[in-house]
Amino acid sequence: MIDSPEALYRKLEAVKIGGTTCLYTLEKCQQLYPYIERIQQLKTQTNTIVLAHSYVSPELQLIADFTGDSFELSKWAKTTHADRIVFVAVRFMAETAKLLNPSKEVLVPSFQDGCTLADSITGPQVDALRKQYPHATFVCYINTSVAVKARCDVCVTSSNVMRIIEALPTTEIVFLPDRLMAQNIRVHCQQHGIQKQIHEWDGVCYVHDEYDPAMIDYIRQQYPNVQVAVHPECAPAVVALADFVGSTSQMMAFVAQTDAPYYFLLTECGLATRLQVAHPDKVFVGTCTMCRYMKSNRLADVERVMRQPTERDRVLLDPADIEPAQRCLDAMFTWASIPQKGGVI
Ligand code: SF4
Repeated sequence: MIDSPEALYRKLEAVKIGGTTCLYTLEKCQQLYPYIERIQQLKTQTNTIVLAHSYVSPELQLIADFTGDSFELSKWAKTTHADRIVFVAVRFMAETAKLLNPSKEVLVPSFQDGCTLADSITGPQVDALRKQYPHATFVCYINTSVAVKARCDVCVTSSNVMRIIEALPTTEIVFLPDRLMAQNIRVHCQQHGIQKQIHEWDGVCYVHDEYDPAMIDYIRQQYPNVQVAVHPECAPAVVALADFVGSTSQMMAFVAQTDAPYYFLLTECGLATRLQVAHPDKVFVGTCTMCRYMKSNRLADVERVMRQPTERDRVLLDPADIEPAQRCLDAMFTWASIPQKGGVI
């Protein structure tokens, strides 16, 4: 519980990565604290929970009832007894939460709708691909719209993608929409003797696409014994240089369970700030890549949507997409429970 500007400052003063955006002075905490105090009161008064993605700014993670990746947040949304959910992330993630829990009101405070990955493909484009590859199994990453999920066979996350691809009985797979993750799947299958034909789409997360192998070489020279953890949305040439590859929740476990002098996390830098708050003694180095969509969330907008939500703030789904998209998500839970042959990526 944050009960004063000083308590907020004590929580956030260790955060250094990200330049001035993520520098927390006592003065900045004094400006932020009144919002936090009012949001905490509003949560109780209106039986609302706040779910925040690991990529949003740390002060938003501190007001959240739960912080995690898109899959973890969706699971929380599914089980909550609260009347309303404020989803501090991006709209397509809030749509997934609504899909899993259609009776709840789900509100999005972000003022920048979008995501380069989710926006790279539409439902009608999936329909066209279905005609092009009539015998393929359609696998979509969780970072997609509900319209895309409604047209695919099974959804995956960065933590279960390899497990599910291996478990699927079909050889021919259309993987949507992340081109770099599709290429990583291909490499994984080749390395583990798994026969799959993977068709890719040309979508990327612009944040993970920014990393290149030269950055890792540079950081290794500057910081001997640095542990390099890479998200599978990065290019295969970057993944190949990693000490660890995994989703954001798997990276968090990796940092918690290892004892290295330095860590370089190749993912949106909100994860490094989250881990810096949790482990003030650990040292995170390297560049900071920020997602403009995730960072468009602000405390002032969280308070605004809790007080007076507009139609734009509410998540509404096309009724025709709900049932097929739910089937796509349910298939993920079924296939993810099958043991994996090749080991995690
Ligand atoms: S980091 Fe931003 S752009 Fe990349 S997948 Fe997440 S929301 Fe989309």
